[in-house]
Amino acid sequence: MTRSPINRRAFVTTGALALAGGALGVQPVIGQESVVATRPLGKLGKVDIATNRIIRQVAGLRPFRPSGFVVRAEQRGDKTIIHNYGHGGCGITLSWGTAKMALDLALATPHRTAAVIGAGVIGLTTARLLQDHGFDVAVYAKALPPDTTSNVAAGVFGVTSIADTDELEGPFRARLQEAARFAHRYFQPFVGRSYGVKWIDFFLLGDERPEQPPDFAVTPELYPLTAYEPGQHPFPTRYAASFPTLFAETNVFMPRLLDEVIGRGAAVKVRAFASVEDIGGLAEPLVFNCTGLGAKALFGDAELTPVKGQLTLLLPQQTVDYCYLDGARDLYMFPRSDGIVLGGSHQHDVWSTEPDPEIARAIFDGHREIIDGMG
Ligand SMILES: Cc1cc2nc3c(=O)[nH]c(=O)nc-3n(C[C@H](O)[C@H](O)[C@H](O)COP(=O)(O)OP(=O)(O)OC[C@H]3O[C@@H](n4cnc5c(N)ncnc54)[C@H](O)[C@@H]3O)c2cc1C
Repeated sequence: MTRSPINRRAFVTTGALALAGGALGVQPVIGQESVVATRPLGKLGKVDIATNRIIRQVAGLRPFRPSGFVVRAEQRGDKTIIHNYGHGGCGITLSWGTAKMALDLALATPHRTAAVIGAGVIGLTTARLLQDHGFDVAVYAKALPPDTTSNVAAGVFGVTSIADTDELEGPFRARLQEAARFAHRYFQPFVGRSYGVKWIDFFLLGDERPEQPPDFAVTPELYPLTAYEPGQHPFPTRYAASFPTLFAETNVFMPRLLDEVIGRGAAVKVRAFASVEDIGGLAEPLVFNCTGLGAKALFGDAELTPVKGQLTLLLPQQTVDYCYLDGARDLYMFPRSDGIVLGGSHQHDVWSTEPDPEIARAIFDGHREIIDGMG
């Protein structure tokens, strides 16, 4: 998640936009409007935060492009390459959405045999949708789950760190709307323990009245806020607002996707491609580039840049069944079955995946302040 300035206009227009109709045939959800709470929030389970409950620190690199994700086709020699990469801080969120865009490009070609390069969430959702539409698929990847960035992700549904804020007002806006709306709808039947997908309440905390960040405001109907006044919620900030959202536990969702893709007949091969020429040697005429940050070196995308994010995991706690984000302090908490995830950080252009002890300390102390302050 990311630190974003609040957007008053977006908050108050949520209901109207929800009824206004969607881009490219994807209908927004009707009837989800932001409201002010009429009664105080009930009790919330408190995270048991202590240094002896820390089980690990992890860091990952978000594949960020200032102008947003890339989904496009190009011809290179006898190969049709379909790119699907650059999902920044919300690759889990947008996965099914951009996979559908990539599928549509593939359906316009005569080919029905495809190589998917990459076994993160983007490669695996793309492979599965292709299989659902009759394609014969092989997956090639330098690393498989659990060793992908997608496995590091907290896995909450929320568009964040996807592009520079001014890009959200340009032509990219409609593409983002299309991907987010499709993904939000497509994720829903996966809810259940076998996929690790669930609905969860997400609280935005702040001393100003919380409103939708600009990234959320692109599809405001997906985040219908219930606003809590001071005294109506247990958090130490003045205000809180919640919305129900989807949450994909990547430690369950990723291996399940991989199993399904294999179960539907895909050969999965561990292979690193050093250059585009390497790809030319593949047998498949149609190749999907789902290499995330790897696309920078492989296809020479100069715009791609890492945004390092760090997490501290505490022992799992079943009594905690909500998320929170203090946007002003870049602090967020998500409860997964393999641990309570405490984030976060956003370090642009940092390539190391080693957790930084200073950042770990700041994350821990910041969350302790929030949690100790909860009523
Ligand atoms: C701390 C943190 C928290 C996050 N939280 C969330 C969240 O709550 N919600 C959300 O939606 N998103 C979140 N994200 C963002 C999300 O993790 C990314 O957007 C997503 O993982 C990108 O998926 P991907 O499949 O493109 O990349 P990856 O998961 O990196 O997969 C890329 C694949 O391509 C392969 N590959 C790369 N280069 C080559 C090559 N040259 N040859 C062969 N194979 C190659 C890799 O081995 C891998 O298999 C978070 C990220 C971080 C770091």
